Amino acid sequence: MEAVVEATDLERTYGETVALARASLTVERGEVFGLIGPNGAGKTTLVRALTGTTEPDAGSARVLGTEPSAVDRDRLGVLPQDFSPPDRLTARELIDYYAGLYDDARDPDDVLAAVGLADADDTWYENLSGGQQRRACVGSILVNDPDVLFLDEPTTGIDPAGRRTIWTLVEDLAAEGTTVVLTTHDMAEAEHLADRVGLLADGQIVAQGSPEELVATHGGSSRLTIETTADPDAFADLEYPVERAATRRRSTNTDAVIVRDVTPAEIGTVVDYLEARDLEYTGLTWAEPDLEDVYLALADDAERERTTSADDRTPTETATAGETA
Ligand code: ADP
Repeated sequence: MEAVVEATDLERTYGETVALARASLTVERGEVFGLIGPNGAGKTTLVRALTGTTEPDAGSARVLGTEPSAVDRDRLGVLPQDFSPPDRLTARELIDYYAGLYDDARDPDDVLAAVGLADADDTWYENLSGGQQRRACVGSILVNDPDVLFLDEPTTGIDPAGRRTIWTLVEDLAAEGTTVVLTTHDMAEAEHLADRVGLLADGQIVAQGSPEELVATHGGSSRLTIETTADPDAFADLEYPVERAATRRRSTNTDAVIVRDVTPAEIGTVVDYLEARDLEYTGLTWAEPDLEDVYLALADDAERERTTSADDRTPTETATAGETA
């Protein structure tokens, strides 16, 4: 396989803030790599280092076999989080403008159709809906038919239909061999699009793998959520681990308990248990662990480690850190 994007031990600090702490990743040709992690984890800094907008303090970044700043711009597409084109350009003028920057641009009509804006091509950017605006931005970075695409939160603020349009677009591009690195806070998006996912915490990739691998390793067990006011103690004779749900069910505002490790075929056993003991319940939901469970488990671990190492510091060190924070 050909490595198209490579970060090796990238480091970047801003004053006292460590944005990247030896972050490493490799993305192969045609892969979609999803970068997830809490706010402030370093995702944007990593994307900026890989696209030549930020110079790392140490480590190396390579894209298409060269320094990011030296990559042939005809081969690169970058959608920053805060990309904001002029308000008074129509969608078509915007795409035309970007097409004009390249010798060998795609047909703007094809691009407008690909991002679902063929019917809104004469609308000023400022009058497009939020979702249409983001799709126009995505379109404008596709005009050069790039080999590598960096998308920083491509679907944030977009309605579900617009999000689907962008997902399909990314899937089609990857199928044609485009390498994609995307950051997202949407775990369903990462799970749906990414061949591999990297979780960034405190400037480091703390876990990476396919969504399936990550879920199998870090996702924990299945959850059968029972909406009931009964206490978890009432389930003591059930042969599965039972805990109280941390939050009330949003839809019904009822208390719930979570039964772990139940397979779908075993749900009947739990229902029989409830019936036999006259335990009242208003709903049952079964779910496999997913990427959100992975995210919560690993981000919690990182947070705990940070708190523990802060607690481990000597009083002098803690005072110094406090003064500089
Ligand atoms: P993310 O994209 O995961 O939210 P960022 O890469 O934006 O994380 O930020 C990582 C850390 O670096 C944050 O603490 C942020 O405040 C800091 N940071 C990022 N860019 C700058 C900058 N230009 N100047 C100062 N601090 C910055």
